Amino acid sequence: MNKHPDSSVFREDTQVVVSGRDTKSYGGLINPPVYHGSTILAESVETYNSRYLDSQDGEQVMVYGTMGNPTAWSLENAIAELEGGYHCSTYPSGLAAISVALMAFLKSGDHLLMTDSTYTPTRRFCNTVLRRFGVETTYYDPLIGAGIESLMRPNTAVVYTESPGSNTFEVQDIPAIAEVARKHGAILQLDNTWASPLYFKPFEHGADISIQAATKYIVGHSDVLLGSVTTTKETWKTLRDCTWQFGQCVAPDDLYLAQRGLRTMAVRLRQHQQNSLEIAEWLRNRDEVRQVLHPGLPDAPGHDIWKRDFLGASGLFGVELKTFAKKAVEKMVDEMRLFGIGSSWGGYESLMLPVNVRDLRTASPWRFEGPLLRLYIGLEDVDDLKDDLYDGLGRLRNFKG
Ligand SMILES: *Cc1c(COP(=O)(O)O)cnc(C)c1O
Repeated sequence: MNKHPDSSVFREDTQVVVSGRDTKSYGGLINPPVYHGSTILAESVETYNSRYLDSQDGEQVMVYGTMGNPTAWSLENAIAELEGGYHCSTYPSGLAAISVALMAFLKSGDHLLMTDSTYTPTRRFCNTVLRRFGVETTYYDPLIGAGIESLMRPNTAVVYTESPGSNTFEVQDIPAIAEVARKHGAILQLDNTWASPLYFKPFEHGADISIQAATKYIVGHSDVLLGSVTTTKETWKTLRDCTWQFGQCVAPDDLYLAQRGLRTMAVRLRQHQQNSLEIAEWLRNRDEVRQVLHPGLPDAPGHDIWKRDFLGASGLFGVELKTFAKKAVEKMVDEMRLFGIGSSWGGYESLMLPVNVRDLRTASPWRFEGPLLRLYIGLEDVDDLKDDLYDGLGRLRNFKG
């Protein structure tokens, strides 16, 4: 591939635009074409064999449809560069990326330390597939920091983090946890979706593996499912081999769309950050609200760590309401005009969802009394969003059940 000449010398906004792009091979096209293909013909038996060996050695050569093509490499190289890792591999969803990352580094008899604040399907994967294959999972308090040392066992192979946590937004002390993991010979995996590759640089803080649900900010338009795993030099081959062994690969049209999304990610994220901080501040001063769980606000769990380690905040946060009936909360959410009710996030449109994580937590004490809402702040005008929330909180307050 003709990579853009040395894009790592540029500042980040420029990198988002130029990284991974091949400026010579496609007749001057800005975006790489969509490469469709299973069979890739070779000129001879000799080249058929040698290109396979080259691919094993890490060269980006076309061998077979499942093993990559320029549409994939262009995106993967860009994500690896933005996260500050060595290489990146893509998957048909964020959850697929998580499951392969875990399977690649765990075997029967191993022990896994998993944050109690993890994305719920990750927890389900540990409690079903990994358990069935003889991997024991221990959940830990996301705010444990260096105290994780007391949970390490000789067979602990992976320490898994997600910062901030799903739904409850605890910011984890990744450098402290990474140091303990390294000392005990375990690798540190991080679900870095909330911050995107731009607002947290996982490898500067000791991560060995960084996972993105690219479905969210990289794609950015709620129309494609995609996951990525970025590695260090040391962890790349293990991850890549497992990816190929599982036959994991992504449809080229989806890779193309993800790359289109990526190029505007920096400017979108700045707006998400600005809108979400403004709404979070506004909500904090409302009578109906007990607590706003936005890592960028001083009261949020782990805020000091966020300030120390993160480069920005994204558009997803939690709101703990004062005590209201379930029906009143549903009345509020059902009738919002701009906030949609739905899973996922990272697109341009705002979303709102009541979340119940009370029954899921097993390691950390439950810290909330009121109902929890998860808000995702999109790119609408914040004043329109505030009007919508103002009316919604009115419905909540005035509900007569
Ligand atoms: C959405 C999400 C995932 C899963 O991504 P999918 O593409 O929906 O499978 C994983 N982790 C986090 C933190 C997420 O928000």
